[in-house]
Amino acid sequence: MPEGDPPLSLRDLDAIGVDRLRDVGRKRATALTAMEINSVLDLLHHYPRRYIDRTNQSRIAELAEGEDAFVEGSVQRSSSRRTKQRRTLVEVIISDDTGRLKLTFFNQPWQEQSLRPGRQVIVHGRPMRYRGSLQMTNPVVDLVGDRTGRFVPVYPQSEKVNVSTWEIAKFVDQALNRCQPRGIVDPIPPSLLQQFDFVGRQTAFNGIHRPVDMRESSQARRRLKFDELLRVQLELVRRKRWLERHTVGVSHAVDGELVDRFLARLPFPLTGAQQRVIDEIAGDLAQPHPMHRLLQGDVGAGKTVVALCAMLIAVQGGFQGALMAPTEVLAEQHFETMASLLDDLSVPDESRLGGERPLRVELLTGSRGAADRRRAVAGLASGDINIVVGTHALISEGLEYQALGVVVIDEQHRFGVEQRAVLRDRGPRSVMPDLLVMTATPIPRTAAMTVYGDLDVSVLDELPAGRLPVATSWARGPLEEAQVWEAVRAAVSEGRQAYVVCPVIEESGVLDVRSVTETYDRLTGDGGELTGLRVGLLHGRVTPAEKEATMGLFRSGALDVLVSTTVIEVGVDVPNATTMVVIDAGRFGIAQLHQLRGRVGRAHLASSCYLVGEAATTEAEARLKAVVDSSDGFDLAEVDLELRGEGTIMGERQKGRNDLRLASLRHDKEWVVKARDAAIELLEADPDLRSHAALVDEIDLMLGDREAEYLLKS
Ligand code: ADP
Ligand code: MG
Repeated sequence: MPEGDPPLSLRDLDAIGVDRLRDVGRKRATALTAMEINSVLDLLHHYPRRYIDRTNQSRIAELAEGEDAFVEGSVQRSSSRRTKQRRTLVEVIISDDTGRLKLTFFNQPWQEQSLRPGRQVIVHGRPMRYRGSLQMTNPVVDLVGDRTGRFVPVYPQSEKVNVSTWEIAKFVDQALNRCQPRGIVDPIPPSLLQQFDFVGRQTAFNGIHRPVDMRESSQARRRLKFDELLRVQLELVRRKRWLERHTVGVSHAVDGELVDRFLARLPFPLTGAQQRVIDEIAGDLAQPHPMHRLLQGDVGAGKTVVALCAMLIAVQGGFQGALMAPTEVLAEQHFETMASLLDDLSVPDESRLGGERPLRVELLTGSRGAADRRRAVAGLASGDINIVVGTHALISEGLEYQALGVVVIDEQHRFGVEQRAVLRDRGPRSVMPDLLVMTATPIPRTAAMTVYGDLDVSVLDELPAGRLPVATSWARGPLEEAQVWEAVRAAVSEGRQAYVVCPVIEESGVLDVRSVTETYDRLTGDGGELTGLRVGLLHGRVTPAEKEATMGLFRSGALDVLVSTTVIEVGVDVPNATTMVVIDAGRFGIAQLHQLRGRVGRAHLASSCYLVGEAATTEAEARLKAVVDSSDGFDLAEVDLELRGEGTIMGERQKGRNDLRLASLRHDKEWVVKARDAAIELLEADPDLRSHAALVDEIDLMLGDREAEYLLKS
């Protein structure tokens, strides 16, 4: 590459196949492809997992029993045999000029192949004495090439493909050397580099792959992490600003009297948090561009009232509100709650004497009868229906709204971006409705910035006064479980109701509802713990009509206990239910358990939640303990993030946004915030990033087409 050429951009590097490197033949190239390394860019983004400090290596003669150590040696012999328990045992002798060390590997038959005599290896393990001499069992092995640096990078490897970490190091080395003459573009503005005292991009790539000391590698990491976070934040903030500038929405009349009348008739005062969030929403609705707001609120925080206020603001200006729920049960329940809260409210109607008519709320779900559906469709088109509650049916083909003003999506983590986009296209006046997404699963702030960074976020962080915490306990073993059923019977004898929730086990794509039916049979059968009580059964296999009937009976108090799968997980609201029993609780995630617990404790009645069963793993144990110890959804969300890693959170929305290799939403919280601030500042000065073409190009490259598609659809 001639020196006069401009520095290489990430896109340039992405266009160079790894097979262009020396010593990468067909076989290596295929193996690298299997590790998702196709281009030189992928290679440079394949970061070391750790480093071996060669000055910290021990000689074999210096090894001490029980003390972890690195040693380097060459393989003398390797052999493999079967043990009596039919496991493979590979035995390898390595030596340096001070002595010999035996390595044994159980169930790693490939080690015999890779540890051929003459190979130079570094092993890391704990020497233990066995029959008089030291040996290491199942040490971590790195094959070394001829390295001169003090720090040897150790790359993530894949067991399936046979490319050693020293080979990867060699390829990376070659790639970096070949980039040297032209250099690598650094698209981050110098002012930012200065502000955070960052090293340049090329220095960072060098520093992470072949550091001279650990300071160099940590500076490199710090820089490259920031780049990842900044790209994501720039994309999200840019999208947000773009929507603000390029979409036309409704400037709603936020000071009508409908909302006031509604609030005045509520049997309780709003919490401070509800009032604050309603004000935030009203502020958005008054603006000419559409709202894109996420409402986070723990279970029971009172999101329904907030959602209603948002829709009523639309209604008082002659627009319609729509609330979309993830399941029919939830849609029906939202409908009933809302219809009763809105009962007796009227809206202006010029065609009538007195100029008013009752506000009309309708339910629209897939399983409604044809006549009901026709009525709803007509009412939406004419504007007769002011508020509609439903499922996906709300976005079905051909459904017309007279003037859709506010859309609320009760997401509960079940809707994707796509559905939101479709729903937004529904206003025939060719304006975009305002959008409020509600979620009951709290997301830690910095994670929300990344996952929902294109939305404004409101948090309902206060429960209505007088809520008693739900006493939560973990019942392990038959004795404690017996006490749980005693407690259920006691609650029922006081006129209260209970839920019993069982896991659904999914096997090869088929949902197994046996656990719930078996539990039902066991509890209600002869001599069962709940015989004599009125017990209902609900799961994904019952028809919608049956489901509705059973829910109706439970709501009205005609059933004492509801045995069900997690169909009741979210949103079901029966204030008289005070006991929640979760069977096989170790199978549920933290968020799910917290949701389930939120189904009780909804009135001023003392409530309990029992988590039944043993934990199969230490992680399950940690989950159950966390739920017993804390009733704060945000605390639990942090614990969840700790336990499960960010993959799960990211998975919800971030499939195309897998640019975070080094940065972690858990460990780099402060950098998420800094990157967000930097992104906002850059976009404030230059909304289209016209003077940052290289950065924009890199964002498009790294964040992929999916993101671009979203932008167009929105
Ligand atoms: P969420 O959807 O956030 O889980 P809901 O909106 O279903 O919570 O409200 C839970 C319960 O609390 C409902 O019974 C509701 O009527 C009641 N509620 C809502 N806001 C208040 C308030 N400010 N004071 C007292 N009770 C309230
Ligand atoms: Mg709710």
